[in-house]
Amino acid sequence: MLYLVEHFYSIQGEGKFVGTPSIFFRFGGCNLKCPSFGEYFVKGKIVYGCDTIRAVKRDLFQKEWKEIKDYKELIEILNDYLENLDFKPHIVLTGGEPLLYATDKSFYEFVKYLIENGFIVTIETNTTIEIDFEKYSAYKDVIFAMAVKLSNCGDPYEKRVNKKAIDKIVKNTKFSFFKFTLDRGLIETRAIDEIVDIVEPYPEVEIFCMPLGDKIDILKKHDKAVAEFCLIYGFIYSDRLHVRLWNREIRR
Ligand code: SF4
Repeated sequence: MLYLVEHFYSIQGEGKFVGTPSIFFRFGGCNLKCPSFGEYFVKGKIVYGCDTIRAVKRDLFQKEWKEIKDYKELIEILNDYLENLDFKPHIVLTGGEPLLYATDKSFYEFVKYLIENGFIVTIETNTTIEIDFEKYSAYKDVIFAMAVKLSNCGDPYEKRVNKKAIDKIVKNTKFSFFKFTLDRGLIETRAIDEIVDIVEPYPEVEIFCMPLGDKIDILKKHDKAVAEFCLIYGFIYSDRLHVRLWNREIRR
């Protein structure tokens, strides 16, 4: 069952394509919890974890989770946006963890349609799910934003790091990149060791580091430390432009 939580047209706020006009499709569900990533007050309850909480807590956001039965429903949504544009924006498939649906017929057919029609497609993933690139060859033309989680997310190493999944993406795609979320505490202790453990086999892959925080005040606690960290190690600083502009995680 494929669940779409929201879709919107905005600028990409993070990573390699920051500032690029993009249509976002946010899919529901995730295989991680990231319990250290946030604290939210939702419908009378305090909920911990995840910076896109409505895409992982189906019980709390049932109304937003729309079941997609056929990929043509996604194309209809896409066409509604395109009617008002005379250029091709980027398409971003995000979550939650969109690769939970990597083998789902509707999800894959949508990816295939986008690629066949010349769109630049980014899938934002925690990179824990292995893709069969031979069987699902359209993924070879997708750009994966590999947001591998570090220890500051609160999930154990064996859940959040899948080196086989990373290796398959790096070896089968051309422009995928790493995107790490860092905070001051991790930078002062073991951030570089954790990043090297993941990226060492892939010196050709770009590495973006961005500060933790889905609100400006939290972002400001970590942003300078992340910038200095990037200057020391030669990584690329990524801000969270949507947070800077609109606060919280809403990108409109
Ligand atoms: S991997 Fe991403 S979507 Fe999943 S729980 Fe962590 S922050 Fe949320």
